[in-house]
Amino acid sequence: MIRATVTGLKRFRAVTQRPARSRVVTLSSGRMTAGFRPRLVIFDLDGVVYRGDRAVPGAAELIAALRAGGVLVRFATNNSMTTREGYVTRLTAMAIEAVPAEIVTSTSATIDHLHAHLPGVRKVMALGAPGMLAELEAASFEATAAADAVPAAYDGGALEVDYDAVIVGLDPQLDYRRLAAAASAVRAGARFIATNADLLYPTSAGLLPGAGSIVAAVRAASGVEPLVIGKPEPAIFWAILEAAGVPAGEALAIGDNPDADIVAARRAGIASILVLTGVVDAASAELLADERRPDAVAAGPVEVAAMLGLSLS
Ligand SMILES: [Mg+2]
Repeated sequence: MIRATVTGLKRFRAVTQRPARSRVVTLSSGRMTAGFRPRLVIFDLDGVVYRGDRAVPGAAELIAALRAGGVLVRFATNNSMTTREGYVTRLTAMAIEAVPAEIVTSTSATIDHLHAHLPGVRKVMALGAPGMLAELEAASFEATAAADAVPAAYDGGALEVDYDAVIVGLDPQLDYRRLAAAASAVRAGARFIATNADLLYPTSAGLLPGAGSIVAAVRAASGVEPLVIGKPEPAIFWAILEAAGVPAGEALAIGDNPDADIVAARRAGIASILVLTGVVDAASAELLADERRPDAVAAGPVEVAAMLGLSLS
C-alpha cells in the first residue's frame, strides 16, 4: 500500500506552488515521485477519463496501473443524468474496470447527503433526467417526476406541492410545467436541493445549459437558495474519503475543470492535478490562481503516471 507522509505532502505542495517557468505549469515527475504517493485517486470522468464515447488515451492504462499498485480508485462526476450502473457499462466498453460502488455521481452524493443529514426526507420531487429519478427510486424515496406532478393540460390551477424536498439536476426535457411544479413545491416549503450548480454542459454540440441553469430558474421562481451537493462544493469528495476510510491528505483528485474539480479538491483538503484533456488548455491553466490553482498540471494520463512514478504498459 502506498502511503503519503505528512512531510511528503508538504513537500509536494511547496514544490507545486512555485511559479511556473515553462509555458505549461508542469512539474518535474522526479519531484513528484519523491514527494507524494496517494492511497486513493479520485478521477473526474468527462474530460479526464473519456471525451464523449472515447477514452482519453492512457486513461485505462493509468487506472489499471494504480489498481495494480494497490491504490484505491474512485470516479466522481457532477453529471446527474446517468445511474452508477450506467457509468460502469460505459467504462467497461472502454476497457476500464469499475464497479458501481466506486462511482459517485451528483445524484448518488445527493442521496447519501439526504440519508446522512436529512433522514426525515422521504417524499421528493425530481426535476432531472430519468437516471436521476431511477436512482432516487432505487434508494427507496417516494419520488415523483416533476413532469408527473403537473396535470398534462395544466391550466394554472392549484398544484400538489406537499413534498419534503425538490431535487434539481439536468433535465433535457425541461418545460414550463415542470419548472412550475418544482418552484411551487419549493415555495410551499420543500427543501431545495441541487445536484450541482454547473451553468454549462459541454457536449459535442458545444456548451449547452447545465443543471445550474435550471437550478437558477427554480431559484428565481421560488426566491429560495438551494443546497448544492456537487463540485465545487466538497460534499462528493468528503463522502468518498469517508467511505474509503482514507484521510484527505492521502488522496489525490484528477480533474479537467478548475472551477469544479480543483476548487472542490481544495475545499476538501485533497491534492489535485489538472489535466489538459478537457475544458482547459495550457495557456488558461497557467493563469489559474487561488482556489482554482491545482497542485500540478499534466497534459494527460501518461504525464500523470510519470508524476506518480508509474510506468504504463
Ligand atoms: Mg470534467
